[in-house]
Amino acid sequence: MRAIVIGAGPAGLATAACLKRMGLEAEILDRAPTIGQSWRSHYDRLKLHTARGRSGLPGWPMPRAKGRYPAKAEVIAYLEGYARHFGLSPRLGVDVRRVAAKGAGWEVQTDAGTESAEVLVFATGMNATPHLAEWPGLPYFRGAVLHSSAYRNPDDVRGKRVLVVGFGNSGGDIALDLADAGVTVDIAVRSPVNLLPKELFGIPITSFGIVRKVLPYKTAEALMMPVLRMKLGHYDQYGLRQAAKGPISQIIEDGQIPLIDVGTLAALKAGRITARQGPVRSDGTTVHFADGVEADYDVIILATGYRTDLRPLLGDAPEVLDDQGRPRISGDRTAARGLYFCSYKPSADGQLWAMSREAERIAADAALVARGL
Ligand SMILES: Cc1cc2nc3c(=O)[nH]c(=O)nc-3n(C[C@H](O)[C@H](O)[C@H](O)COP(=O)(O)OP(=O)(O)OC[C@H]3O[C@@H](n4cnc5c(N)ncnc54)[C@H](O)[C@@H]3O)c2cc1C
Repeated sequence: MRAIVIGAGPAGLATAACLKRMGLEAEILDRAPTIGQSWRSHYDRLKLHTARGRSGLPGWPMPRAKGRYPAKAEVIAYLEGYARHFGLSPRLGVDVRRVAAKGAGWEVQTDAGTESAEVLVFATGMNATPHLAEWPGLPYFRGAVLHSSAYRNPDDVRGKRVLVVGFGNSGGDIALDLADAGVTVDIAVRSPVNLLPKELFGIPITSFGIVRKVLPYKTAEALMMPVLRMKLGHYDQYGLRQAAKGPISQIIEDGQIPLIDVGTLAALKAGRITARQGPVRSDGTTVHFADGVEADYDVIILATGYRTDLRPLLGDAPEVLDDQGRPRISGDRTAARGLYFCSYKPSADGQLWAMSREAERIAADAALVARGL
């Protein structure tokens, strides 16, 4: 039986490797010219926020030599090694345009022709489409506006006044990258936030996911909050507002990953980064913030996340996609036989860890489908 996996990022590679281990041959298609393209295009400073031991894909751990938090280049080398290890040869430069159920399987239309398979796995990533914040006047801003996905390093903006919009992991990392390089940088924070330290008692924060396996998440969070407060302090005085919801509830209930702090808070405390409230409007190069403060910038970096919408590929498919085009089920059997989605739900355990478990479940279920079950 044949499987097609769309995407040669970590989720696609992991799923194809698991399918192969189940005896199913999987063809991976990716429109990018290389494996792990999204990692190649991330900013230079990027290191894994999750520890190496919990970031390896199924069947081939990340080598110890890569340290506890491997850098971007090491993650890319690992993904290439992973593909080699499992003999995966993705067909690169192939853009999938449309998929549809056909007979007992799936037809996949690409810019290189039409393919068909009994099993089809979407692994196109949650970061495929940048989401751009909007406010009155932004289209006429008389400086440069870019999404965080286009930011590489401080060289692009040296000597300029920069506003980073958004206090997620990309926003926090990029603001810190700029502050460390001596660039004048403010960070605009619209909503109350949660921060997590990268480690607690020397243990990577994502390893505390184990507590949620034995306790309801609200209880685990209630136990964790005083420890977090002791470690990070109250951040109100640095221009941030503490979210009413805890970090685990935020992930589980709202699908939002809190900022894993790698130094941004210390930079705010030291005044090397200034927190601003959300922008309400801008004119010329002046940005007006919600608290009445205004400031001038040369560059705005929108670290305002990404959106997932698979309707352009799948059409309206209410049995498998919600009203915004996001998969209803990620990492398990869906309402459409032979169709799977890997890594479309944010996880408190770390995305690489969660996608690995999803890939294993998908492969196990696809093997049942192959046996007619
Ligand atoms: C800045 C940043 C830092 C992160 N750090 C961590 C971390 O420390 N730990 C962690 O666990 N997770 C982290 N993540 C989250 C997650 O692990 C990564 O985003 C990971 O790359 C997601 O893997 P993926 O395979 O789902 O998607 P991607 O890596 O985005 O791969 C999707 C692939 O699908 C291809 N594709 C998309 N559409 C089509 C199409 N129509 N036709 C053909 N090909 C297509 C793309 O070209 C791409 O290569 C981070 C994410 C970001 C953005």
